[in-house]
Amino acid sequence: MTATLTDAPLTIDFAGPYALTIDGKLVETNKSFDVLNPATNQVLAQAPEGTAEHMEAAIAAAKAAFPGWSALPWAERGAYVTAYADALEANKDELITLLTLEQGKPRHSMATGEVEAAIYWVREVAKRELPVEVIEDTDDHIVEVHHTPLGVVGAITPWNFPVLLGLWKIAPCLLTGNTMVMKPSPYTPLCTLRFGEIAQRVFPAGVLNIVSGGNDLGAQMTEHPDIAKISFTGSTATGKKVMASGASNLKRITLELGGNDAAIVLADADWEPLIPTLFWAAFGNSGQWCIASKRLYVHRSIHAAFVAAFVEYGRQQTVGDGMDPATDLGPIQNRMQYDKLKDLFADVKANGYTVPLGGTIDESLAGNFVPVTIVDNPPETSRIVKEEPFGPILPIIAFDDVEEVIAKANDTPFGLAGSVWGRDRDAAIAVAKRLETGTVWVNEIHIHGIDIPFGGHKQSGLGVENGAEGLAEFTNTKTYMFRK
Ligand code: NAD
Repeated sequence: MTATLTDAPLTIDFAGPYALTIDGKLVETNKSFDVLNPATNQVLAQAPEGTAEHMEAAIAAAKAAFPGWSALPWAERGAYVTAYADALEANKDELITLLTLEQGKPRHSMATGEVEAAIYWVREVAKRELPVEVIEDTDDHIVEVHHTPLGVVGAITPWNFPVLLGLWKIAPCLLTGNTMVMKPSPYTPLCTLRFGEIAQRVFPAGVLNIVSGGNDLGAQMTEHPDIAKISFTGSTATGKKVMASGASNLKRITLELGGNDAAIVLADADWEPLIPTLFWAAFGNSGQWCIASKRLYVHRSIHAAFVAAFVEYGRQQTVGDGMDPATDLGPIQNRMQYDKLKDLFADVKANGYTVPLGGTIDESLAGNFVPVTIVDNPPETSRIVKEEPFGPILPIIAFDDVEEVIAKANDTPFGLAGSVWGRDRDAAIAVAKRLETGTVWVNEIHIHGIDIPFGGHKQSGLGVENGAEGLAEFTNTKTYMFRK
């Protein structure tokens, strides 16, 4: 088998038709469900509603493809993954538009960035290796550690970054010799269905299968005896269900879950030039981001001036349809999340917290638009501080000393990421070292890389994605010992 490059780009009619990908073929379903454009709440397209039988067929196809795919030399699988990057690239512009239409994020900024980063990821991951590690090589004995593929991997993705988070799973999973069944969020299935269509031009049948439909398909995957691993990104509540049901056949499990990241601005920070960076760290993707800064702690000596400048910057940002080049923040992706935000906004109002910007959702608008909202110094026990809002609302909280802010930052069941900002780098690093999170940034934020492992502590996850460790999580460790 050799990798074949795609010929011409697929021309996407955004209204469809869309189909499942099972065993290298497009599969139509009897039933379909509406996918809404969150900027209008009009039906964008009909997505195929996969049944339990479709899921069974997809898992069976992935299982049948596994022996041939896993037997290929690593470099040959790498060539296929590179060809997939080329095929995605050929369809890049249409994927960007489709992402904006189904997810809502601005086409000219976040959607372009997400698709480009995702394709870059696929291309770069294809070049990575997991070499054999020689532990011992003496006159009479050899000990080696190899990494062998697991089998069929079930991938389950959320609706906030469907392209990037989907391809973060596909590329390392296939490179390491596994086959995959992917189930996208029912809110944003369309780009992922196109991944399947594009994959049919590149991979052997059954290597990558895509099944869209309801949450019950996810539960079917986590219970299925022929799935060896679940790679899941989504909420902590669902992550717990995945882990419980994966116990049935001791599945390998990677969970990338929710967060309530603290950003800590120390007294000596040169904060004025940082306002745009800190604003977008919180409000990028309209706050629908696992690693968005969700609690901004600012030293009391600078807090009032900081809030004033932050509010001024926030006031200048435009919330609107992501297809409009003037839009800075798109809508909330779905009505369920919009309703959760309405409830949180009502709580902020009912408690009389100070809201120097935003605070009122205009429900007469057709789309799921929520204004940029800043809550000034709410109590530590408030819902807006304790919960993951997943929307464009941010508490900015004053603190007095470093011990206090570290304790507050860590006082959460989440442990995804955090950031510390200060002129005295060593002092900032000392604070960063005490944050109980999987990632911490000092005087920068949201840097990711192919070789940088990413994962949550505490209830933000289990295991990591990316880096050699992330690649290794798609494999079994196999120890060989030879008597010479
Ligand atoms: P969700 O948990 O509601 O859904 C995620 C996926 O799980 C969807 O595909 C859904 O259909 C599926 N699912 C639902 N019930 C299931 C079940 N019982 N078994 C198996 N699968 C099931 O999450 P969401 O609302 O789509 O995403 C938002 C959440 O994801 C936020 O909490 C956010 O912080 C988190 N997130 C985490 C990361 C990370 O890398 N840590 C990245 C993005 C999003």
